[in-house]
Amino acid sequence: QNSQPVSRTYGGLKDQDRIFTNLYSRHDFRLKGALKRGDWYKTKEILEKGHEFILQEIKSSGLRGRGGAGFPSGLKWSFMNKPPDGRPKYLVINADEGEPGTCKDREIMRGDPHKLIEGCLVAGKSMNATAAYIYIRGEFYNEASNLQEAINESYAAGFIGKNACGSGYDFDVYIHRGAGAYICGEETALIESLEGKQGKPRLKPPFPADVGLFGCPTTVANVETVAVAPTICRRGGKWFASFGREKNSGTKLFCISGHVNHPCTVEEEMSIPLKELIERHCGGVRGGWDNLLAIIPGGSSVPVLPKSICDDVLMDFDALRDVKSGLGTAAVIVMDKSTDIVSAISRLSAFYKHESCGQCTPCREGTGWLMNMMSRFEKGYAVPREIDMIEELTKQIEGHTICALGDAAAWPVQGLIRHFRPELEARMRSYAIATPDKDLSKLS
Ligand code: SF4
Repeated sequence: QNSQPVSRTYGGLKDQDRIFTNLYSRHDFRLKGALKRGDWYKTKEILEKGHEFILQEIKSSGLRGRGGAGFPSGLKWSFMNKPPDGRPKYLVINADEGEPGTCKDREIMRGDPHKLIEGCLVAGKSMNATAAYIYIRGEFYNEASNLQEAINESYAAGFIGKNACGSGYDFDVYIHRGAGAYICGEETALIESLEGKQGKPRLKPPFPADVGLFGCPTTVANVETVAVAPTICRRGGKWFASFGREKNSGTKLFCISGHVNHPCTVEEEMSIPLKELIERHCGGVRGGWDNLLAIIPGGSSVPVLPKSICDDVLMDFDALRDVKSGLGTAAVIVMDKSTDIVSAISRLSAFYKHESCGQCTPCREGTGWLMNMMSRFEKGYAVPREIDMIEELTKQIEGHTICALGDAAAWPVQGLIRHFRPELEARMRSYAIATPDKDLSKLS
C-alpha cells in the first residue's frame, strides 16, 4: 500500500536554508527588521528580468500550492499569461486560514509581513497583475494590523505602488478582512465575498483565471506559496528543488498541535518523516511514541492515520496520498491513547455541518446526516450495519458537490472507518450490553 521509501533520516533543515526567520515574531516585523533578514534585496532586478524569468524559476523550483491542493504553482500562474483583452488581472491572496489545526500563515503575516508583500509583487509581476487583494481571516486582528503597517511602509519606501521598486511596474496591494466564515477559504467563495456578496462557492468552469474577481482574470494563491517566491527568485529554483523529493520539493511550514510535548510551527524540509518531525521539533509525543494513537497529518479535511502508518510515513503530497490521506495544509494533529477518536471525528462532522454554505444538496443534507450519525456512534447508540450505511453516505457526498467542503466532510469519517472500525463496533456492543432495555433492533 505504501510505495514510498521508508526510514529515510534527515539531518534537519539548516538555519541558512530557512526562508521564514521570524516565526513567533521574535524580531522586528517592520521594514527595518525585514531588510536585515534579506527581504526586498534585489527585488528591482527580479522585476526587470521580467515575468518569464519569474515563471521559469517557480517552475524549476517545483513549488506546489501550500494551501492544501498542491497544484504546481508555476503552471497555475502561467494560466494568466494570455494576450491582453482590456481587462485588468488580479492576484488574490488566500489568507483566510480557518482549517482546524492550521496556524502557519498567521505566523508569516504577524512576523514576516514584508515577505508576503514582496511575494505579492513578484508573483503579481509573473502574471502582469495590476493589484493584489489579501483576503485575511477576520479573527486575525494583530496579523491584519501588522500587515497594514508593512503595506504602508512599502508604499512609503516606493517598493509598491506606482513604479514599484523603480522598475516601471505599477502594482497595488489591498487588505480585505473576512467575517468568520470557513467557506470563504474556498477560492471562488472568497472571490464572491471580496465582491461584497455572500461567500458561496461558484461552479467551475469558468475558472478564476478566465473569469475571477470583478469578472477579470484572477489567480488565488495561499500566503505561504506567494511568500516564498522572492527567495526562490533570488536563490534560484534549483536551490529550492534541492529539498525534499522529486515532485515534492522545497521547504515547508508545518504546524504541529495536540498531544506533543511542545506544539509548534516550524519550517522543515519537505518529505521529512512524520516521526522525525515530531521528535525533532516537538519533544516527541506525550508519554512517548508508543503512546501514540493516531495523527491527522494535514488539517481536519484529510483522513486520520493510525500509529502503524505514522511510524514511517513521509510528510509530502505523494507519500500521504499513497496512504489514503493528504498533506493538506500540513497541520499535524497528534492524538495519544487517551483520545476518544470517535468523539474527535464526530466533532469534525459537527464543524463541517456548521460551515456548509447549504448551496448543494449532498453537502447541505449529507453533513447533517453525518453529524447526527456520528453523534450516535460516539455514544455507541447504533448497530454495526450503520457503519456501512455511513460509509455509503460519505461516498454519495464525495465528488458530488460544488466545492471541496463536501469531500472534506466525508474524508475524516472514511478514515475513521478504514482504521478504527473495531473501535466503533466495540462501542456499539458495550452500549447494547449496558442498556439492555433499549431496543437497538429498531435502528436497523
Ligand atoms: Fe456549499 Fe457545501 Fe456545496 Fe461547498 S459543497 S458549495 S460548502 S453546500
